[in-house]
Amino acid sequence: MVQRLKAVFWDVDGTLAETEMTGHRLAFNRALAEAGLAWQWDPPTYRQLLRVAGGRERLAAFLSEVECAVPEGSRLDQLQARKQVHYRELVKSGGLALRTGVARLIAELAEAGIPQAIVTTSGRTAVTALMEACLGDLQRAFGFWVCGEDVARKKPHPEAYRLAIQQARVDPSQIVVLEDSAQGLRAASAAGLSTLVTLSQISATEPAQQFEGARALLDGLGDTAQPVAVRRGPVCPGGMVTPSYLQRLLMAAPAAGASEA
Ligand SMILES: [Mg+2]
Repeated sequence: MVQRLKAVFWDVDGTLAETEMTGHRLAFNRALAEAGLAWQWDPPTYRQLLRVAGGRERLAAFLSEVECAVPEGSRLDQLQARKQVHYRELVKSGGLALRTGVARLIAELAEAGIPQAIVTTSGRTAVTALMEACLGDLQRAFGFWVCGEDVARKKPHPEAYRLAIQQARVDPSQIVVLEDSAQGLRAASAAGLSTLVTLSQISATEPAQQFEGARALLDGLGDTAQPVAVRRGPVCPGGMVTPSYLQRLLMAAPAAGASEA
């Protein structure tokens, strides 16, 4: 039976915009410096730290290691709160932009009447800052947002996706998820959802076998001027991910083996 595409769920960090290295990392560094701490996270360090999901959790893991003691909760709360302030300032000052093809695909899905939602385990204030700075009127394309505050467990736990499925009232077999990371893919897969992985600066360097569960593995979403490379999955006509490409993914067998491209 052919499943119709009835909803698209978007991850935020790395999927909508390259937020990690030029957004979150810099904000953490400003918070660390402001607190009089000697450490600054360079890109290789931050890449390692990204294995810990959640900003507060990431700070806790780092400080536990360098200070050989578990940091107090109130200190972590304060550092995380300041980090969030710096992140919002960075985003508001125009420090981040949507990835290629994101605005186009959101608009095309809206035009096609396909409901869209945000499913992230980042904090709502960070998501709001990014949406307001980068999406403008396109924000209206999203029926609802699931954010970090709405769940007890962050990705790769599937809780955020399970909640989104309930809110969307759509059968999981009719939903496509857009994710950039292996953690996000694991979360979506564990909720029974089909996923297109759009590799980001961070995830592009990770081993391809981490993405075996994806229906398609691409370098991005593509645009006329910047066609996308398909690493695995159906051929992408015109080098752009479109609503009909996402529809096609629902019909594709769970990905395995080489690209058709
Ligand atoms: Mg992500």
